[in-house]
Amino acid sequence: MSDGTRPLRFVVVGAGMAGILAVVYLRERGFDDIAVYEKADRLGGTWRENTYPGVTCDVPSILYSYSFAPNPEWSHRFSSGSEIQSYLEGVARRHDVERSITYGEEVVHAEHDGDRWHLLTTSGLTDVADVVIAATGVFHHPFVPGLEGLEDFAGDLVHTARWDASVPLTGRRVGIIGTGSSAIQTVGAVVDEVASLSLFQRTAQWVLPQDNPPYTDEEKAAFRADPDSQRRLHDEISELFADGFANAVVDAESPVLARIAELCQVNLDSVVDDELRERLTPDHRAACKRLVVSENFYEAIQHPNARLVTTGIDRIVSGGVLTENGEVHELDVLVLATGFQVDQFMRPMEIIGPAGNRLSEAWAERPTAYLSIAIPGLPNLFMLNGPNGPVGNFSLIEVAELQMEYALQLVDRIADGSCRLIEPTADATEAHEEARTEAAGRTVWATGCNSWYLDDRGVPMAWPWTFREFRRRMATPELDHYLLTD
Ligand code: NAP
Repeated sequence: MSDGTRPLRFVVVGAGMAGILAVVYLRERGFDDIAVYEKADRLGGTWRENTYPGVTCDVPSILYSYSFAPNPEWSHRFSSGSEIQSYLEGVARRHDVERSITYGEEVVHAEHDGDRWHLLTTSGLTDVADVVIAATGVFHHPFVPGLEGLEDFAGDLVHTARWDASVPLTGRRVGIIGTGSSAIQTVGAVVDEVASLSLFQRTAQWVLPQDNPPYTDEEKAAFRADPDSQRRLHDEISELFADGFANAVVDAESPVLARIAELCQVNLDSVVDDELRERLTPDHRAACKRLVVSENFYEAIQHPNARLVTTGIDRIVSGGVLTENGEVHELDVLVLATGFQVDQFMRPMEIIGPAGNRLSEAWAERPTAYLSIAIPGLPNLFMLNGPNGPVGNFSLIEVAELQMEYALQLVDRIADGSCRLIEPTADATEAHEEARTEAAGRTVWATGCNSWYLDDRGVPMAWPWTFREFRRRMATPELDHYLLTD
């Protein structure tokens, strides 16, 4: 606390959704000696980086909002990426977050000398901190598949996570590789304007239908007049998610999951052509891969311009994509909607603990952490949306807020002089990871599909228990799972 015995300096790495809330929460708690380092020249994280056509958050806007900043101006039930980016910028402005941010500085090295963290950025800037909050995001490092000949493509090559708005699409032959959320949203957004659209599908996806009505002027006025009504709605939707979807995915036999599967099947049945419907039919259970949510995908893929290509890609050639049947799909634009390297977190930053222990070594096999938040041997370092946390079709804002509340309870111990350093014990971390791995086997993500949820052993990299259990664990840290050093 600010009236504690020890003034603390904080470094927050990253000014995305989680970095912004970290600053707001710290200030609310009375901490004001905060430096945020952001490698880009703007805040916003994933919403700054993902600007592909149709980018939309598939979590309802009321829920994908900070609890402390309800937004009466959301235009639709589900918001576009640019609207979320504006929202984040507005919150940062209203809470004066920007005065703490240094842009264009990527933290590449953090070393603890037994007393404090010493940080170094790419430009050579140095800083020290008592506490580091890693708010570096998950969907951050685009995954570029090792397709042979990619560099030979003579047209425009773009990745959805590095969209180039100067590349024209109108009247051109566009190919999209991938059938995840990014691809499906892009297909729906561009199919009308392009000359032709070829969707290269390696794995068919279940698609949950989505209804995305605009908020009426009356609804917005009511939210404006009574912000508490929006907060109550936030809490209601949050409970619905916690009791519904979040429970369903961790219990592969749950009735809610069966209902989700039914809705996906009915949606698929809207595809008129038998042969196309057959090729769009997944070979795995609904929600095994991250559920795709769309209001127009099946309509778009039945558009006369659109072609679903299910023959495997042999290689990329200068004129387009050569599939395994020898056909060249001539293209002007090739879009890689191939997702992210989701196991990077704050890497490639090197983090070195007081004993000379390195994050790169601790995570050489795969990233693990105590409750997704902290790592043995790296004291006073807390992650937001770190490894193996709740992922899926619900709000990572809510997840980060709960994690920040939890981390602040540990920070309070440092500030009130109970300890100087705090880190999880190796035993507690191992026990957590063992229980997590065991429970992960009972989730729908482990029912036989390939997805980015799975680690190198095929174990889902996610919180495998209910969201209520996550809330319970985040409510109060179990201090006997931590090592407190004077
Ligand atoms: P993704 O879900 O990882 O999908 C990547 C796609 O690329 C998959 O269809 C994959 O096929 C395909 N692919 C990868 N390498 C390939 C290759 N060599 N040949 C052919 N196909 C290949 O990526 P994403 O769509 O960008 O989504 C990533 C995550 O970001 C989502 O799951 C979600 O969490 C988040 N996201 C959220 C929203 C939202 O609305 N909230 C929107 C976009 C993204 P396979 O399936 O066969 O592996």
